[in-house]
Amino acid sequence: MVVVIGAGATGLGVARDLALRGVKVTVVDQWEPGFGTSGRFHGLLHSGARYVVTDPTAAEDCYRENTLLRAVAPDAIEQTGGIFVRSEDDDPGFEQAWLKGCDRAGIPVTALDPRAVHQRYPDLTTRVASAYWVPDGVLEGFHLLQMLTKDVLAHDGTLLSKHRVTAIQTVNGRVTSVSAQGPNGEVEVGCDAVVNAAGPWAGAVADLFEDPIPMHLSYGLMILFAHRKFPVVVNRLKSPGDGDIFVPHQHVTILGTTDVAQDSPIAPDIQASEVLRLMDLGRELVPGLDSWRVLRAFTGVRPLYDGQGHAATSREVSRDFKVIDHQRRKGPAGSFSVVGGKWTTFRLMAERTADIVTQYLGISAPCVTAQVPLTPRPVTSFSASEPYLCECEKVSASQLTAIDGSLSEWRTATWFAMGPCQGTFCAHRVTALHHALFPSEDSGAALQDLRAERTKGMLPVLWGANAREYALQQAVRFQTLAEGDPQWAGNSPGLKNSWPSSEGVTL
Ligand SMILES: Cc1cc2nc3c(=O)[nH]c(=O)nc-3n(C[C@H](O)[C@H](O)[C@H](O)COP(=O)(O)OP(=O)(O)OC[C@H]3O[C@@H](n4cnc5c(N)ncnc54)[C@H](O)[C@@H]3O)c2cc1C
Repeated sequence: MVVVIGAGATGLGVARDLALRGVKVTVVDQWEPGFGTSGRFHGLLHSGARYVVTDPTAAEDCYRENTLLRAVAPDAIEQTGGIFVRSEDDDPGFEQAWLKGCDRAGIPVTALDPRAVHQRYPDLTTRVASAYWVPDGVLEGFHLLQMLTKDVLAHDGTLLSKHRVTAIQTVNGRVTSVSAQGPNGEVEVGCDAVVNAAGPWAGAVADLFEDPIPMHLSYGLMILFAHRKFPVVVNRLKSPGDGDIFVPHQHVTILGTTDVAQDSPIAPDIQASEVLRLMDLGRELVPGLDSWRVLRAFTGVRPLYDGQGHAATSREVSRDFKVIDHQRRKGPAGSFSVVGGKWTTFRLMAERTADIVTQYLGISAPCVTAQVPLTPRPVTSFSASEPYLCECEKVSASQLTAIDGSLSEWRTATWFAMGPCQGTFCAHRVTALHHALFPSEDSGAALQDLRAERTKGMLPVLWGANAREYALQQAVRFQTLAEGDPQWAGNSPGLKNSWPSSEGVTL
């Protein structure tokens, strides 16, 4: 039995790989799949082109995995393609290095006519100097996490959600069990090996092995817009930096990102100044960005491995990954960590980890995840006359009731409450339905969590239609529904914020 700590892309990937090799696995997560960075990212299935100059190993891994994932997980991937655009202000020298890098990594690139690019994508700047097509794609993170979980469970695996691993037990220097704290107290899970796939928390888990690892954490800010303005991923053709990617996700667009070093696995509250800076950077590629309807801002924390130690900035730390056998250092036998990497490379990270773990267990079973497709998510049929509970995302009751999960799992599976109204009208209806089906769950607390998360995302981008939506939401919540503290929208702390003004951005 192997315990995998962390139900993000990496942990679920490791668990599925081991399960398909016939190893019994239990995945333990302090919350639910996607609680960490795997639920807070751009959604870009990298072609690798972004890293060809600065991080060629990561670039090659990304391209190989991009091609593989299209074949084994087509349900979770939109094959949009991507473009790299150099504006007249960007360094032409970098373009030459980039073309050579793509060639070395074997990434197919097609030159596009800059004038045709602007005609095709009128939101882009008119100052396009050159542009290229690359095989970028869009990865539906929550869908892929659900597919991975389903496969783990179908192969005799177990998922222990809402349990935080707090201790590792050893006998004669070998791992024998882990202790995890859950809603009903502590549980102990016996095992022969433990894999630490705890993302930004991997440093804290490695401390439980008494073998610290040098993590470099940094958070990135992303802004979500309520339009799909580009049918392709748009990258700025320059050395990777802030605010240089637009990713279309179904009917929305994500602008990202930033890179701020920090010590905590949880990103700090978003500051207005960093939102305005990201908008300024985005405007360099999309001059009319202020006319896009903003939805929310959110952050994710990069779990990078700083093997050299003490990198000054996160951009200096490789996006490559590292599998650590702690027994070879100071830790007990049977303790492993997998850190760094990208969502795009999770399968490869899992393969390398499972190779080492099975070798330790004396099991000789090859990896099959490059060939065996993931089980697609079931498509729920519903009658066209059935009303939607969430009008923004078009989610009906029968779609929701088909999912055996918590309120937040309903949300990540269907995207209810994630559209323009951010749950103003649907959150109560869906919570009531969930409560009727799962009366033992604390629906009030789940609704409060949902509200807190949505509000946290709306407040930093409180201008234009989003500010009006927020005021309406406050009125509906606190006046019409008398939810919680009966404050009225006019007194809401969010609307009273003195918002720093910036050209083109007004309340
Ligand atoms: C801003 C940003 C944008 C990004 N964009 C992209 C992109 O477009 N494309 C791409 O390929 N990659 C992208 N990445 C990188 C990618 O998202 C991450 O590399 C990847 O999601 C990390 O997954 P993980 O499973 O290792 O970590 P996580 O997803 O963080 O999973 C770790 C899990 O461990 C659990 N855990 C932690 N401690 C414990 C404990 N003690 N007990 C139990 N459970 C525990 C957590 O709850 C969490 O669920 C981005 C990253 C950032 C920050």
